[in-house]
Amino acid sequence: MYSPKVDEKLIPILFRLAKSQKKPMTVIVNSMIRESVAGYDAGKTTHCAVCGELGRKKEMEKVRVKVRSGKVITILICHSCYEK
Ligand SMILES: [Zn+2]
Repeated sequence: MYSPKVDEKLIPILFRLAKSQKKPMTVIVNSMIRESVAGYDAGKTTHCAVCGELGRKKEMEKVRVKVRSGKVITILICHSCYEK
């Protein structure tokens, strides 16, 4: 399968990031690409309002919450936060 090459100029930055996070460079790169691709996925993804985990909107739970002003808002949370 075709594997696009990472720009050589980015390698030193990625190398330092990987070293500081004690993770392989591929893990760092893949997580960045995953987040970015999700962002391009036509607003179909969002972060859980509780844990911040990225997920697909239609697979998340809608929860109505009353905020301090008395207004009721709807937030999206992931299944694991919903079950807690
Ligand atoms: Zn969550």
